[in-house]
Amino acid sequence: MSTMSQKRSFLYSVVNVKCLRCREGNMFPKGTLYSTKFADMNKACPCCGQVFEPEVGYYYGAMYVSFAFNVAIFLVGFFILYQLVEEVTMLMMMGLMAVTVVVLLPVIFRLSRVLWINIFIHYEGPCDQIPKKAHS
Ligand SMILES: [Zn+2]
Repeated sequence: MSTMSQKRSFLYSVVNVKCLRCREGNMFPKGTLYSTKFADMNKACPCCGQVFEPEVGYYYGAMYVSFAFNVAIFLVGFFILYQLVEEVTMLMMMGLMAVTVVVLLPVIFRLSRVLWINIFIHYEGPCDQIPKKAHS
């Protein structure tokens, strides 16, 4: 672990939604985060060939991860709001929830997927040093 460069740390790959096998290829095409294509994932790693969706329904569990993200962000937002205003109204709560769920949806969607795939795919090395997986 200690020989790994900072650029390819686990955190770096999660935040940048990189392939977790090589930490170089993008899991999602560039520049689509805030577009209607935010959910379109690359089928396989453009660098090492790791398939990102081995079977249908693979990301079902990622829903729980994104739910946890939403709850955590909502609680943090609520706490901040609680410090800022005298009384937190229902309208503020709904606004906060809307911001959390809608505005952050693409970010949370991708983060939950990269964290979910982390259960199954682990770092093997830089993509020019590990065997390429054949694209299906
Ligand atoms: Zn890869």
